[in-house]
Amino acid sequence: MAYDVLSEEQREIRELVRTLARERIAPRAAEIDESHEFPWDVVELFREHGIFGLLFDEEHGGTGTGTLLALIAIEEVSKVCATSGLILAVQELGSLGLKLAGTEEQQARYLPKLASGEWLCAYALSEAGSGSDSAAMRTTARRDNGEYVLNGGKRFITNAGVAGLYTVFAKTDPDAGHPGISAFVVEADTPGFEVARLEPKMGISGSTTGELVFEDCRVPEGNRLGAEGEGFKIAMRILDRSRPGVAAQGLGIGQGATDYALEYAKSRETMGKPIAQHQLIAAKLADMETKCEAARGLLYSFGQMVDAGVDGPELTKASAMAKLYCTDVAMEVSTEAVQILGGYGYIREYPVERMMRDAKITQIYEGTNEIQRLVIAREMLKENRAFLLAGVG
Ligand SMILES: Cc1cc2nc3c(=O)[nH]c(=O)nc-3n(C[C@H](O)[C@H](O)[C@H](O)COP(=O)(O)OP(=O)(O)OC[C@H]3O[C@@H](n4cnc5c(N)ncnc54)[C@H](O)[C@@H]3O)c2cc1C
Repeated sequence: MAYDVLSEEQREIRELVRTLARERIAPRAAEIDESHEFPWDVVELFREHGIFGLLFDEEHGGTGTGTLLALIAIEEVSKVCATSGLILAVQELGSLGLKLAGTEEQQARYLPKLASGEWLCAYALSEAGSGSDSAAMRTTARRDNGEYVLNGGKRFITNAGVAGLYTVFAKTDPDAGHPGISAFVVEADTPGFEVARLEPKMGISGSTTGELVFEDCRVPEGNRLGAEGEGFKIAMRILDRSRPGVAAQGLGIGQGATDYALEYAKSRETMGKPIAQHQLIAAKLADMETKCEAARGLLYSFGQMVDAGVDGPELTKASAMAKLYCTDVAMEVSTEAVQILGGYGYIREYPVERMMRDAKITQIYEGTNEIQRLVIAREMLKENRAFLLAGVG
């Protein structure tokens, strides 16, 4: 059993999430994947048990139990159903703009609704022509009579059509790059805002991914987060804290696949013994477990850093490393799990093919893993390690 960093209280909450995941969500996972329907029953389960509250401070109706525990909750749920784990990760992603840059009034207006799960939320940065390169975005927000008029579109937005509140990034100065971007919260029933279509996908099929359209969509000035032109900074600060949610989803998928493959390998026999006793399979299992545990180390250390109040470049780097490693491990380990199950791994009757399909997106969204490598290297290049060279004769 791995060394446990959690306090007694944290362990109890983890146990609650684990039990809900195993008893209530796991039996639904294959159905959610097959039906491609958003699992409102899982949202209801989270609401009933106060699970959304794990992502929020006490003053806004949450539990105030911190980031590490929130990440663990996402991991536990994702072990059995990545679509359901994503519901929690995106509640964090979509609300971080308010938490980090919202005024007290904005926070009081929206955060309690998000902490209870009454409203789901979303984060709308990407567009058809701007994913990794957000400065290239074309959605505009023009100031007019105490309001902003939004025009344009967003693509690939998780929770499109199910969210009550969207954090939207738009250019208040279309000629500027990053400094031209501002952030807004847009309520789902705002006239001029529409979800144009939902995308069919390889994995996380129960999650909605959609295109948003803004046509002369008027939002009050009071819905702007931070100052005009601060949108890009806010978007990046959000991602520093939200990417580990994707890391937790990836780790959950990886560990879930490892657990399943282990049990299978103990009972499936070839050449007179369980396949787990063939050295090549045993080695795979050992590598899978080790990679998951290494990934967990990066993820939990990030959670502890946030809970200890660490911010700035150190957090940016730790966040990118956790996202990069946990999600690469998710892909690698879930692919190995399919291999361990042989032909059975490839068919829908067993969950590992779903896990492998679900794992792929974790390497892509909230900044591709190529972008994470750029971020990590950029932070490394700012560091001075010359003292090491000085000591080398
Ligand atoms: C299911 C799903 C859900 C999503 N949810 C959301 C959401 O909720 N909100 C949101 O805003 N977005 C969301 N996205 C969008 C996602 O974040 C982007 O797809 C992702 O950031 C990549 O952008 P892109 O697709 O435009 O690829 P591109 O930016 O066009 O990149 C294409 C390829 O080039 C690589 N690349 C790009 N630039 C560089 C570079 N400088 N150096 C090296 N390699 C580079 C990329 O890593 C990638 O491999 C979602 C996407 C999907 C598929």
